[in-house]
Amino acid sequence: MLLDMPRGMLARNGIRLPLTLGHEAAGTVIAGTTLAPGTAVVLYGAWGCGTCRSCLAGRDNYCATPAQPPGLGSPGGLAEYLVADERYLLPIGDLDPVLAAPLADAALTPYHAIALVRQELTEGSTALVVGVGGLGHLAVQILRALTPAEVIAVDTEPAARELAMTMGAHRTSATVTDRADVIIDFVGTQETLDAAAAVVRSAGHIVIVGIGRGALSVGYDSPARGVSVSTTYWGTRPELREVIELAQARRITTSVENFTMDEAVAAYGRLRERRLTGRAVVVPHR
Ligand SMILES: [Zn+2]
Repeated sequence: MLLDMPRGMLARNGIRLPLTLGHEAAGTVIAGTTLAPGTAVVLYGAWGCGTCRSCLAGRDNYCATPAQPPGLGSPGGLAEYLVADERYLLPIGDLDPVLAAPLADAALTPYHAIALVRQELTEGSTALVVGVGGLGHLAVQILRALTPAEVIAVDTEPAARELAMTMGAHRTSATVTDRADVIIDFVGTQETLDAAAAVVRSAGHIVIVGIGRGALSVGYDSPARGVSVSTTYWGTRPELREVIELAQARRITTSVENFTMDEAVAAYGRLRERRLTGRAVVVPHR
């Protein structure tokens, strides 16, 4: 998305070029004050001011005056070295950094969205995951790991629907047509949001995660009675710790394809053409 942003919009978002991309990163500590050299860590990316009420509660993702995230304004992870505040480096133990890197967003963002509605996903409820890309394939697993809900994964691409079944979805669909109690929309276009509003059950929830730039009009008569609509942004630091624990317990795993640093540009090309399933991980050296 950043690659296709016009220069004017980049400037309005405070992003100056050149910029090292990579907002999901993992690696080992070279030097630190609290973390020992050699500690394997994953990088929390929703950098905040560190002093506001949100940051002090670990909710840096809702900081009142956020800092530029790595790879999205500050120098990112597509480099051999990266400088970060130690409170944003979470130890991963013996998890493979290649599999751990996508936890920083691709797992944390759906985890945060699911945490919002988890109490509603009781026995007999239905959750719709709209869009089975980098984030959606983890959403399916997190829903299965943490809730007894029936999980239906929606994607127009057959390969994505196949991946969703591998990750534990009960059923898949090419369109948003099944009635559901919770709809987590990782696409967020006008089309998917309108469809979500049409299928959500009374007292249900629509969570908008995808940056498809759609908008829902919410009023007394529509969507159905008692429906709540939320947006989310990334996740909290305590939630990233919980995500790491889920991965360490092998209850979630990331579907990744590895690329060398020289292949990174080609990997972005594949992403843009929607020819990636799961997440692309660039490995500088091992
Ligand atoms: Zn703050």
